Amino acid sequence: MNNLKLAEDLISSICEKGFAERQGEDSGKLSVCDPATGRVVAVIPLCQGIEITDKFDSAAVAQIEWSALLPDERSSVLLRWANLIEQQKESLAALLSLEQGKPIGESALEIAATIDNVRWSAQEVLKIENVNLKPHLPEAQNVIIYQPVGVVAAITPWNFPSAMVTRKAAPALAAGCAVVLKPAEDTPLSAMALVHLAWEAGVPNGAFSYVILDRDSAPLFSDVAFSHPAVRMASFTGSTAVGKKLVMQSAKNVVKLSLELGGNAPFIIGKQADLEKAIEGAFASKFRNAGQTCICANRIFVHEDVYDSFLTGLLKRIASAKVGNAFADGVEIGPVINKQAYERLAAYADSLLSDGAKEVEIQGESSNDDLDIKGYFVQPRLFECVKGCVLLKQEIFGPIAALVKYGDSDDVAQMANDTEYGLAAYIYDENKQRAERLAALLQYGMVGINETRIAHASIPFGGVKQSGIGREGGPESPKNFMNIKYICKT
Ligand code: ADP
Repeated sequence: MNNLKLAEDLISSICEKGFAERQGEDSGKLSVCDPATGRVVAVIPLCQGIEITDKFDSAAVAQIEWSALLPDERSSVLLRWANLIEQQKESLAALLSLEQGKPIGESALEIAATIDNVRWSAQEVLKIENVNLKPHLPEAQNVIIYQPVGVVAAITPWNFPSAMVTRKAAPALAAGCAVVLKPAEDTPLSAMALVHLAWEAGVPNGAFSYVILDRDSAPLFSDVAFSHPAVRMASFTGSTAVGKKLVMQSAKNVVKLSLELGGNAPFIIGKQADLEKAIEGAFASKFRNAGQTCICANRIFVHEDVYDSFLTGLLKRIASAKVGNAFADGVEIGPVINKQAYERLAAYADSLLSDGAKEVEIQGESSNDDLDIKGYFVQPRLFECVKGCVLLKQEIFGPIAALVKYGDSDDVAQMANDTEYGLAAYIYDENKQRAERLAALLQYGMVGINETRIAHASIPFGGVKQSGIGREGGPESPKNFMNIKYICKT
């Protein structure tokens, strides 16, 4: 079946269950648009303040029974959830592409990661065991046990509308926590479909629910969450600016935070880089999801010895990339998420130019005559920037590549670290020792050496400095949603 039809059918089934409508009045409702055409694909009633409180109240009640289940029982429910997602993977990928805009192949990969997150949590929770400690008194028996932290408030972004839901909710549910989720206003349908499947798998409705809000009313969610006595943890992926607000709000009830915030990834190409690999890596890292990921290459530092060859190769690679609708054949770059992003990127490119950057024309760019003029398509652009360009301290979050040339006398680690962010960094260099030495100097939570595919359920994803607090996924995954309780017996 064609992908658009799959997505439309899934939206129809959400509407038939009464959770959304095809059309409706704008007031009190959230309109979900296809960023490739600007068309409204669904309209969802907004949650009111009192309903948000009700969801947290219900979560507090549901948490008691859910956490009383054995880890094996919760794990089985999660595995059923993973299987249900897998059974619907084509429809979920199509829905993701429709509301978010990423090419269907990227959505398929995201749904695979969505499933991995659930299976990983279901497996890892079974490994959690009490730990016997050395006695600190001759007669003491000391033990550590792990218990669910409490109700979790989860806030997810629009750039990975499915994978971020399970990266937060699956380990929290596995740990025995109840979760109230607020999906991003641009992409709520993927999240809703996933929560409905979790209910079908046997997660009680109260133990996992969602709150639909628009941009203006989003702060209501954190206001209610951080005031509710049952909420003991909040997990957020989004901008550093919003993350900082949540840090302030969390002080009220001293709520634990897991924050995955902005990035400003340096992509460093050494003089002994395998240029073919480096060009493909830079292209993938820069233009995946139309440049809208927090681990996208933001500043591409290229050694002067290989600069010209790299530039020529990257230009050629960009020229071969088709911009277009997620469902069209051969498309590698979809639209950006919305009008604000579209306008912000145009203004950013203008500022780069007035700051002394030089735009390099991309010769022979594929023709994109068939693009819907109402869609938020941004053609890829490439700028050669001066060293120390202050604009490169910002996260670009779009299909704009910024290159900076460096030489032997430049301290590239210092240049790369000259930012308030510290999420992901990349090094391309066949001199393994030099690459590893550089990796050790980079103030980042994750470093890819000759590799850009660094995210997976099994790795601890997260940053340092203003890129966040805590890690998601990896061996500590469900434990992040648990408290350590130490018991001393004599
Ligand atoms: P972006 O600019 O990429 O949308 P944001 O950090 O602004 O990133 O938003 C990420 C998520 O945080 C979205 O789901 C948004 O609705 C939500 N959000 C924004 N402000 C708040 C807030 N004050 N409280 C709770 N959620 C918020």
